[in-house]
Amino acid sequence: MTKRLVLVSNRVPSPGEMAHPAGGLAVGLRDAIGDRRCLWFGWSGNQVKEGDDIALHTDTVEKVTFATIDLTEKQYEGFYTGFSNGILWPLFHYRTGLMQYARSDWKSYLEVNALFAQRLKPLLQKNDVLWVHDYHLIPLGRSLRDGGIKDKIGFFLHIPFPPWGIFSTLPGADLLLMDMQAYDVIGVQTEEDAYNLNAAFELLGLKPRAKPFPIGIDPEEFAEQAAESLKDIHIQQEKLNLRGRALIMGVDRLDYSKGLPERLRGYAAFLERYPEYLGKVVFLQIAPLSRTEVQQYQALRKRVDELVGQINGIYTESGWTPIEYVTRSIARPILAGLHRMSDVALITPLRDGMNLVAKEYIAAQDEDDPGCLILSRFAGAAPELEEAIIVNPYDADEIADALALALSMKKEERKKRWQKLRRAIDITTAHTWAKSFMAELDERR
Ligand code: UDP
Repeated sequence: MTKRLVLVSNRVPSPGEMAHPAGGLAVGLRDAIGDRRCLWFGWSGNQVKEGDDIALHTDTVEKVTFATIDLTEKQYEGFYTGFSNGILWPLFHYRTGLMQYARSDWKSYLEVNALFAQRLKPLLQKNDVLWVHDYHLIPLGRSLRDGGIKDKIGFFLHIPFPPWGIFSTLPGADLLLMDMQAYDVIGVQTEEDAYNLNAAFELLGLKPRAKPFPIGIDPEEFAEQAAESLKDIHIQQEKLNLRGRALIMGVDRLDYSKGLPERLRGYAAFLERYPEYLGKVVFLQIAPLSRTEVQQYQALRKRVDELVGQINGIYTESGWTPIEYVTRSIARPILAGLHRMSDVALITPLRDGMNLVAKEYIAAQDEDDPGCLILSRFAGAAPELEEAIIVNPYDADEIADALALALSMKKEERKKRWQKLRRAIDITTAHTWAKSFMAELDERR
């Protein structure tokens, strides 16, 4: 009989979200579950007062049981906001300068991981296979082993892993890597991440080795959604509003890893150096607010607001605003439709684990008249998407030239590039990601 799969992640989807998975991760994990029995364990998203009981909430739908626990306000602050998002996130994205280290947060991180292990243990059955997800839960495997759990445990890191010289700026960096020895399989997104993590393991004389399992989307499903959404009233209205202007689009959580100020400077350089496009293009940046309680995100928002205001202030003419900027989250069906009608996707993260938006943009295109993808070489997706116009996001002039190239590219060239890109997103999908990781885990020991 196939073994039960136990997924552990910081946030757990609701049964409803699982029935209609919205992102690559949920689609992939639904595949990993397949027809196995599954327990999915994590944080409920609720905060309770200090001293309150940490209740276990469970909900079973068919073969999947969702089990979550609450965190106290203090745990949320230290484990989630402080250590995970205030320290590990910038560090793993190569931004040591943004890391705000506090020993108390490190302590809280270890405590919450130990709490997860303690609360998960009684739910485990003999012969379970465990798959732990992401940077919030690196020490979980070690805590489970300390609690006597002998089942197979895999770990997947969804964000980049930096070179040792950067990683070692974290006090206790070696301890975090030593904890990874508890895992039977360690997966990362790219060859570069695996190279960096393995070099660190070697340097410390540790045994584990990481392997790349690039995550993808369900291209067919997204393509169908995009074609379908063209009928949507919002999409038709947006098309009318453009009045024949070319549409450049960016879609990113408002996060400093996404390179938004650099992108805006690139767009400003484009308007300045290619004045023939004034009044003829619109740049729509969708940037839903994210982690608003973290100071660096507040500062970034201010910076992006200012830059958008400055550029629009300089160039706006009667009937034309060069940048449309939205800080709300947009539903995926609408996003899919917007992708399909946009001529250029401008995706320029300074560092990104994968960047699913780039893959979604490719999937959404009309094969007879596809748009152009401009992609940062520092996105995890870049090695797979070589036929995109690859840029260094720190170079505003390179972004400007890429925009001019994309907007003037002949249809034949666009089609040729797109066909190759489309093949690439068919090779590593959400399905292949989950399947290959699970195959590796099932094979071990
Ligand atoms: N997304 C969305 N609405 C938005 C912005 C983004 O549904 O307003 C989705 C997007 O389609 C993609 C995911 O959020 O599936 C973002 O994934 P990505 O890997 O690009 O970046 P992350 O946010 O995980 O860093």
